[in-house]
Amino acid sequence: MLQSNSLSTVSDNHLPGAQTFPLMPKVLIARATLSELVGELQYTSKMPGPSWSIDAIHCITGQKLRAEVPTSPCAKCYAMKGNFCRGKVKDANRKRLHAWATVPNWAEAMASLIETSITFGDPFFRWFSSGDLQSVQMLRDIVQVCTLTPMIHHWLPTQERGFVTEFLALGGEFPVNLTLRVSASEIGGVTDPFLLSSVVSSRKLKRIWQQRIQRESTFRYFCPSSQQDGVCGTCRACWDQRIKTIVYLEH
Ligand code: SF4
Repeated sequence: MLQSNSLSTVSDNHLPGAQTFPLMPKVLIARATLSELVGELQYTSKMPGPSWSIDAIHCITGQKLRAEVPTSPCAKCYAMKGNFCRGKVKDANRKRLHAWATVPNWAEAMASLIETSITFGDPFFRWFSSGDLQSVQMLRDIVQVCTLTPMIHHWLPTQERGFVTEFLALGGEFPVNLTLRVSASEIGGVTDPFLLSSVVSSRKLKRIWQQRIQRESTFRYFCPSSQQDGVCGTCRACWDQRIKTIVYLEH
């Protein structure tokens, strides 16, 4: 798709005296126009590439956990505080969700936007730096974006195990470049044995988790960002499907 965004010329060598003519790309839409259509992507100081988010107030399972389960990571959600809840961030989140619901060919436009926004040589994209899946249809649409961008690694963390289960039960398949991780609903909680997952560790249990991971290192990985100024640096474990569970330290 990137190639299709660049102008090039071809000449038909089979015709004597044929002239060189411009080959118009299938999609010639500037990044700014795509952003205008589906909303701008986000760049966070922590992550290696751009991300997409919606307002955490729309988290279906997350808001229930927040209200009813004080031991859930959602009860202390970072995206329900401060700048996430006001001004430009809130407006941008609203625009992205509205675009998903209303823009025809949203998946194609998103795929083109991601391709034109990704860091060259570091093709990693995160879904839901805040917010979560709204429906099985949203998961299908995101899967389509991933399929349209096979050279980009996508990571999608979610609490919406019901949508994931339904998607798979209806015959849906994840493309190889999508790493979908179901998040444990409680801090230190259990994760689904059949899906890739993530779990939050309390600060108190950090050492126990780290010792446990040392013993079972093939399948679990402790996020190192707390030891490297809160950034991923060269780590890309969240996108690595060989790692069954990522353990994050609570905020
Ligand atoms: S595990 Fe690695 S890639 Fe994932 S958030 Fe932590 S530092 Fe970043």
